[in-house]
Amino acid sequence: MTSGRARRFPLGLEDLVREPRKAEGRKGERATLPAGASARRPAVVSQPPKNTERGAVPNVALSSSLALTSERVRERMVERLRANGVTNQSVLNAMASVPRHMFVDPGLAAQAYEDAALPIGHHQTISKPSVVARMIELALAGQHLKTVLEIGTGCGYQAAVLSQVASDVYSIERIKPLYERAKTNLRPLRIPNLRLHYGDGRIGLPSAAPFDAIVIAAAGLDVPSALLEQLAIGGRLIAPVGAQEGAAQVLTLVERTGPAQWRESRLDRVFFVPLKSGVI
Ligand code: SAH
Repeated sequence: MTSGRARRFPLGLEDLVREPRKAEGRKGERATLPAGASARRPAVVSQPPKNTERGAVPNVALSSSLALTSERVRERMVERLRANGVTNQSVLNAMASVPRHMFVDPGLAAQAYEDAALPIGHHQTISKPSVVARMIELALAGQHLKTVLEIGTGCGYQAAVLSQVASDVYSIERIKPLYERAKTNLRPLRIPNLRLHYGDGRIGLPSAAPFDAIVIAAAGLDVPSALLEQLAIGGRLIAPVGAQEGAAQVLTLVERTGPAQWRESRLDRVFFVPLKSGVI
């Protein structure tokens, strides 16, 4: 890691000191993270360990996981992403800065930097790092984004990565316990330019539109028309499109070229959980 990046995202061993999930959620707390800061300012800030007693107790599991959760492990993941064709340095920096192990169950933390989708409960998964990087690279197209909408917050990982490459990120989740869990996962990272919403992402977020980019993290048979309408002219929408069974999904890029014109490019074969209607 370069010293510049280390200054921007001072995440490291402190990441390990995370509170048990139950202790993190406070009843009645605001649904959204505070917004407003530019992504150019340090958006991810690690917390010093709060519980000193915890540090005094030898913890074998904790120390053996040190190697798995350090910046160096993330750097190796980033090297693999680069080797597999991700070239946008902002995306690689963002992937290096967000501690993916904080978004999965502690029992799966050892696998957090493998290129694998992992279960996050409620029959949903955290997307593979290579897919997250690919979608964000397609959304960026070499630019810095102002306003981005993500559909399908899940555990909040991709939203955290997006917050590093865009000024304002909105993310919608339809499963209440996952929305709550994403809030809990994201709280210690204190990301000021990310707002989480509980709702049906197929409707989008008209109050915050238009968006420079929309990233859909679940596969529908088509792209919901409300989302096409909420894309800024010149904006880019990335979505897996296709049947929810088998290998028929295709990562699709939709560019809005005019008030009533969109251009579609079909890119990679992918496999995502289904985009569903309504909330639960
Ligand atoms: N972005 C996540 C991926 C989560 S998996 C990551 O960082 O890895 C996809 C998520 O999309 C699931 O949590 C699922 O509940 C959610 N989802 C599916 N249909 C949705 C809809 N209509 N609106 C909002 N979220 C939806």
